[in-house]
Amino acid sequence: MSLIANIIRPEVRDLAAYHVPESAGFVKLDAMENPYTLSVELQQELAERLSQVALNRYPVPSYIALKTAIKRQLGVPDDYAVVLGNGSDELIAMVSVACARPGAKVMAAVPGFVMYAMSARLAGMEFVGVPLKSDLTLDTPAMLAVVAEHRPAIIYLAYPNNPTGTLFDIADIEQILQAVGDTGVVIVDEAYQPFSPVSFMPRLAEFDNLLVMRTVSKLGLAGIRLGYMSGSKALLDEFEKVRPPYNINVLTEAAALFMLEHVDVLDAQAANLREQRCLLSSALAKLPGVLVFPSSANFLLIRVPHAEQVFAKLLKQKILVKNVGKMHALLENCLRITVSTPKENALFLNALSASL
Ligand SMILES: *Cc1c(COP(=O)(O)O)cnc(C)c1O
Repeated sequence: MSLIANIIRPEVRDLAAYHVPESAGFVKLDAMENPYTLSVELQQELAERLSQVALNRYPVPSYIALKTAIKRQLGVPDDYAVVLGNGSDELIAMVSVACARPGAKVMAAVPGFVMYAMSARLAGMEFVGVPLKSDLTLDTPAMLAVVAEHRPAIIYLAYPNNPTGTLFDIADIEQILQAVGDTGVVIVDEAYQPFSPVSFMPRLAEFDNLLVMRTVSKLGLAGIRLGYMSGSKALLDEFEKVRPPYNINVLTEAAALFMLEHVDVLDAQAANLREQRCLLSSALAKLPGVLVFPSSANFLLIRVPHAEQVFAKLLKQKILVKNVGKMHALLENCLRITVSTPKENALFLNALSASL
């Protein structure tokens, strides 16, 4: 259709839309969601709180109450601000738009989070993916070579990484932060921080080019769409100019404030899931032919013989996992499984044993 060819940018036409499979009636282990819901008491309290929200008013544009609660409850250093996004997906888009000078490049390890490359392309930037090593750890010399050659404006390090679950070496990340210097920002994406033993958030003061990005999605609030990012005031001031003024709606704001008052509930769920990860990982490792990669996130990456067929057999048993085998050569025959409740993990384990 010539209208499309006449008006839509070629890099948009070339993109495939982000595909989300139909999941009604399935045990849903494909999207790293927290399987737990709130107690009836908390649900009622939340409903009452939301019923009092002034839906007729725009949000308070400074989001001061929400930012204060995030900083206090989620461990942002005292003298650091946060910028809020409608999910960290929007923060990624904002950074891309702010940094998309002609010729500017984006670097990340691959396989990694698909939105890094997608957002770079949408902003008109070239994406340079640096393959992980075969054990799925960072190829730091290769990353440093790309930094020296291309001087990328944005470097993403998912910590832990999705879809591998790998927690990259602290020393490697430090080396990259130092090599990049003032030629780029290094975004340490801590989407899985609730399940990981370490964070770069307390280290913001050590690196002027460090941004720490997080989301409440994996903590148990994927539906409200809220991400936050911290870093130097000078950088955040620039990103604030790109942020759509009312990007966090009043219901999200109220729900997040409420949940941050009860963050102990979410923390307990995360602790439970970390324990389940450990149990599921050992159970999987005992299955013949199954290789389990180490994970510091709320999912496990496994390699199985004939993953394509195993995936199809799991689907037949109404279990939805993510088949990542086609994403990258390093992930051949790999499936990614969200860690869930003991009951759902057992259903998955039984179905998998029957499918191998
Ligand atoms: C899930 C995920 C995000 C996106 O989170 P939202 O806040 O839900 O947009 C960002 N980075 C990584 C690595 C993720 O896995």
